[in-house]
Amino acid sequence: MNNIYDVIIIGSGPAGLSAAIYSARARLKTLILERSKVGGQIVITDEVANYPGSIKDATGPSLIGRMEEQVESFGAERKKDNIKQVDFTGKIKKLKGEKEEYYAKSIIIATGANPRKIGCPGENELIGKGVSYCATCDAEFFEDLEVFVVGGGDSAIEEAIYLTKFAKKVTIVHRRDELRAAKSIQEKAFKNPKIEIKWNSVITEIKGDGIVQSAVFKDTKTGELSEYFADEEDGTFGIFVFVGYLPTNQLVKELVDIDEAGYIITNDKMETNIEGVFAAGDIREKPLRQVVTAAADGAIAAVQAEKYIENNFEE
Ligand code: NAP
Repeated sequence: MNNIYDVIIIGSGPAGLSAAIYSARARLKTLILERSKVGGQIVITDEVANYPGSIKDATGPSLIGRMEEQVESFGAERKKDNIKQVDFTGKIKKLKGEKEEYYAKSIIIATGANPRKIGCPGENELIGKGVSYCATCDAEFFEDLEVFVVGGGDSAIEEAIYLTKFAKKVTIVHRRDELRAAKSIQEKAFKNPKIEIKWNSVITEIKGDGIVQSAVFKDTKTGELSEYFADEEDGTFGIFVFVGYLPTNQLVKELVDIDEAGYIITNDKMETNIEGVFAAGDIREKPLRQVVTAAADGAIAAVQAEKYIENNFEE
């Protein structure tokens, strides 16, 4: 156990990167562990208009790119590994990855959340073949095609607006007769001539042979089912799903306190119920999941980790 970090951060979205900036800048031996891609959900966002100080036309990837530069300039170490097991029982915490084992005096969990699925037959089989959870990633494949967007929150409506730059028509499918999205976002959508809204509707099945060819809709008021088939000339259409997110808590859900929805419960110092283990960003039970709140959580967690180490490890 000779390579003990002061702080290991699991996850490299805005919360993790912000924690790394604060931790490395405080001269703590810091490691940030990334599973696959850096950046978390924000890298699939085309526009970051509400992050204070955002420059015009800032995109998720450009913002994350600047955060990464900061992390590197302060000297935090970065490794790609998929952590499979954690042991928080001792004073030194242990993490077991696919590639290596890691040890740290403190841990910051910043594993974020992942898109929730509709959960209907055909959805999994047709991911990447017409079904998508990321407009920025996949919109271009639907140039001049029809697209359905499932959901009525901020994400669904913002992404529907974005998709109108590519698709010939965008139909928002919402299970109620009123959107959840902020009024300002709704107004933009209502004004967009390419957007239609299919109220009181859900998709109950997606069908297609290697590509989306039809979808079954259910009227949530009457229960009536109807099947929509792709335009003959197009042969296919898109289904973009934005029905909320699920916390990425598999690694720690048996160890730390979580709420009913699976988000980690912390106090305002980002402390979990386990000493030396902090949580930051979308994984945490909180009222607003945004880049700005994730970055703030990361900063607080890192500063608290520093205090924890000072109080518990100084010779
Ligand atoms: P959300 O606010 O939880 O909205 C999820 C939407 O999906 C709701 O309209 C919900 O319907 C619908 N839904 C949930 N389960 C469904 C199912 N099984 N079938 C059909 N529809 C279903 O999620 P979000 O839009 O991803 O936003 C997440 C958070 O990020 C929110 O706090 C949001 O404000 C924030 N956000 C902010 C911005 C921004 O400020 N620019 C952009 C994106 C996200 P009901 O309405 O009927 O519940």
